[in-house]
Amino acid sequence: MFDMPENLKTFEKHQHIHDELVRSILKRIADEKGRKYDDFSRLFRNGRPKENLLFLDILHKEHPGKFCGVWYCMGCKKYSLDETGL
Ligand SMILES: [Zn+2]
Repeated sequence: MFDMPENLKTFEKHQHIHDELVRSILKRIADEKGRKYDDFSRLFRNGRPKENLLFLDILHKEHPGKFCGVWYCMGCKKYSLDETGL
């Protein structure tokens, strides 16, 4: 098995294919809680535990075992999920 070239890895990394999924979950929670999406999303990005727990709770309920982490790309201003590869 060959290693992927570094530039391809970077390309793949920056596709942020799960950005929409992350945003849709954040939007739903914000709506449910009567919060503004922008505020909720910003606190989430800043790593505030409450917002992160709400998000992870839904993510793991709806996609059990599929993802092991979430991060925000400052360059692209997009969210990404790390897949467990299971
Ligand atoms: Zn990026």
